[in-house]
Formats: sequence, C-alpha cells, structure tokens
Amino acid sequence: MKRVAVLGGGPAGAFAAERLAAGGLETVLLDSRLAWEKPCGGGVTYKAYDRYPFLLENDVPKRLVTETLLSSPRVGTARLSLRQPLVIYSRYDLNRLLLERAERAGARIERTWVQQATYDGQRWRLETRGGVLETDFCIAATGARNPLRNLGTQWTPSDTMLALGYFVPAQQSHIDICFLPPLEGYIWVFPRCGHLSVGICGKGVPAPLLRARLEAFMRERGISWRGAEFYAHVLPSLETPAWRNNRVAGHGWLAVGDAGGLVDPVTGEGLYYALRSADLASQVVLSNAQATADKPRAYRAWLMRDFILDLALGAGLAKRLFLGKLLFQSVPERMIQLMRRSERFSFLMQDLFAGTQNYLTLKSRLLRNLHGTLLETVVNFLLRRMVPEEIPL
Ligand SMILES: Cc1cc2nc3c(=O)[nH]c(=O)nc-3n(C[C@H](O)[C@H](O)[C@H](O)COP(=O)(O)OP(=O)(O)OC[C@H]3O[C@@H](n4cnc5c(N)ncnc54)[C@H](O)[C@@H]3O)c2cc1C
Repeated sequence: MKRVAVLGGGPAGAFAAERLAAGGLETVLLDSRLAWEKPCGGGVTYKAYDRYPFLLENDVPKRLVTETLLSSPRVGTARLSLRQPLVIYSRYDLNRLLLERAERAGARIERTWVQQATYDGQRWRLETRGGVLETDFCIAATGARNPLRNLGTQWTPSDTMLALGYFVPAQQSHIDICFLPPLEGYIWVFPRCGHLSVGICGKGVPAPLLRARLEAFMRERGISWRGAEFYAHVLPSLETPAWRNNRVAGHGWLAVGDAGGLVDPVTGEGLYYALRSADLASQVVLSNAQATADKPRAYRAWLMRDFILDLALGAGLAKRLFLGKLLFQSVPERMIQLMRRSERFSFLMQDLFAGTQNYLTLKSRLLRNLHGTLLETVVNFLLRRMVPEEIPL
C-alpha cells in the first residue's frame, strides 16, 4: 500500500492521518472545512485524555470543570463533584490542534470536498472540487452527515438523535445536565472559554419541539439566547440491531468516528470513539500482519474487542434509562434521588461521567457494591436480560 486518503478532517480523520503519516505512509487528508466550530458540546472525558494525554497537555484554550448539577423538573437537583474533570474545548480549537498534529507528522492536508469515491478493486478514484486523486486505500471520516453513501455505516432514522442548541456569550462555572422524562435524551450546559454550549439531544422528537423545550429551560435558568448562534446536527445513536450489522469497513476502506456510527448511545460521547477508532484503524492499515483484503475483517474484530460490544450493550440500556419507570417514577428521576442519598451511587455516576465505568461490568458493580431493596430493584429492572449477545463479525 503506497498512498492512503483520509476523507474528512474532524477529530477522527485528523487523528487517523497523524498516525498513518507517523507510521510512514503517504497520507492525504481532504476536507473543505478543516478546523471549524462543529455543533458539539466539546466535552472530553477522563477516559479520552488518560489514553491520549496530549488532549490535556497542550496550550490550546480549554476549561477543566468538576462541578456538575444533574436535575429533572419534578425532583430537583443533585450535585456531583467529579474526581476527574471534564475537559471542554471549542471544536474549532480541538480540530485545529488535531490537524496541526497531523500536518507535523507529515500528512498532506487539502482543503477540498470529495464529491465521489469509486473503487475498481485495486485503486480509489476520488473526485474532488480540485480535480481527481487516486489512492490505494481510504479512511472514511466524513462524520454523521456522511454524503458518500457507499462508505460508512448505513443507519435508519431511529439510529440517530437530533441535537440542537446555542453558543451563548455567557459564563458559569459548573456543568448542567437536565433530564426531561420521557425524552430519550437530555439538555446540557457546558461552560467553555468565552461562552456556553447549551444544547438538547433527543430521539424521535421533531426539531421544533426539541427547540421549544430547550428554550423553556433556558428561560427558566435565565440564560438568554438573544444574539446567540443557533446550531443543529445529528448524532449517531445506534439501536441494538444496527450494532449487529454496522458497516464499519469494506473492500479498500475503513470507517472511523461518526461515519462508522461509533458514538455512545447513552451519553452521546463521540470524541473518544472518534480518536480510538482512528487509532485502531491506522494500526490495522500499518500492520504487516494482514493483506489489504483482510484489513476490514481485522478492523471489525479489533473494534469489537475494544469497545463495540460495550456500546451495543449501552444501546439496550439507553432505552431503559431514558424511558423506563421505577416505582411510579422515571429512572432519571430515581437516579437523581439516589445520588442525593447514596455516596456509592454518586461514585458510580462519577465513573460513568469519566468513562471509567463501562456498561459490560455495570451490573456486577451495582450488585457488588450497592445493597438495599430499592437498588437491587434498579439493577434488575435496568439490566435484566441484558447479557451481551454475540455480534457476528
Ligand atoms: C450537538 C452535539 C454535541 C456533542 N457533544 C459531544 C461532547 O460533548 N463530547 C463528545 O465526546 N462528543 C460529542 N458529540 C459527538 C462528537 O461531536 C462527534 O462524535 C465527533 O465530532 C466525531 O468526529 P468525526 O471526526 O467522526 O466527525 P466530524 O467531527 O463530524 O467531522 C467530519 C468531517 O468530515 C468532513 N466531510 C464530510 N463529508 C466530506 C466530504 N465529502 N469531503 C470532504 N470532507 C468531508 C466535514 O467537513 C467534517 O469536518 C456531540 C455531537 C453533537 C451533534
């Protein structure tokens, strides 16, 4: 393999390009926007910066936030003091950091849009606004709105969440998360350098309704959206069947980040999975252990071992978490009450925030640590029948 093209220069594409170029491959990254303020909270979890310390150790502006308030209108608020802060970036700054690293590693970066990508079994022909480029292999990193339908995941509308919000020129020192049962999603307020990212995500709810609920929340909290920039985007949120058949690779290509649907279906965290999938994809491409034709299978297996099984389990949990009821109250409301009453439950929530508690071991941790009828009821209700299924590679 001589030349690899990375289609898309968001976190997944930029990181894949960095790793491929550093590994000695001729790498070209194509994106017409490059560093841009993508609609996003910009929250980077401990799990992400623990594995990739450069996310913390750099001089790019960012906020490190520990104080978090979780609320729901009928039960009020619970406070969580995170042991490991959430690191919050503007996406322009984060993208620029990653693209500069790719460039320094030797990747060629072209500001152009890929209109079509066709494969003849040996070589890719990429038609861009600037002309035609031929490559041996492609990394699809074109995000959730991937226009190249022959590459990447193939989801149905139920496998996505709508996310919209405002960049508000205001400040606060804590994170807000608000649940609005039975909304399959939540509202967030993330303090960033110089502004707040305030947004709502939800599954199966029309955009005007989501926007009205967000604005009602902002009105109530005294957050004005006058003069604030509005944004809307989609967020992959694959249902359990979609994880089983998810198209993350094919002849001559591997998909990374949102283009592969690789987002936590409970929290909407995608930045870690963008970087992790880019890391794994570049290792597979650079590896001499398989021929080019075998790389898609190897990548699927690596993803499965690394995090897909966990996210697939999370997809089942998301339904119970957002839509379930427990003793006549919604599960998020019960969670807030439990956080106020149980230190152990608060620790568990902190670890879920930090990404250090995965879904595969959640049930055993709950059963090991938390006693009492109510908690056991939670465990059994949330996780019954949720034994990880074998997902065909
Ligand atoms: C509202 C919202 C809030 C979020 N908040 C968080 C959060 O707080 N924390 C978190 O971890 N995750 C969050 N996410 C998820 C996170 O934004 C994504 O998972 C992450 O951006 C995925 O990175 P990516 O590189 O795969 O895709 P993207 O960042 O979307 O990048 C894709 C790139 O591909 C380019 N592209 C597309 N098509 C072409 C083409 N044909 N030719 C050339 N270039 C192309 C685009 O211009 C873009 O730059 C949020 C998502 C949304 C929508």
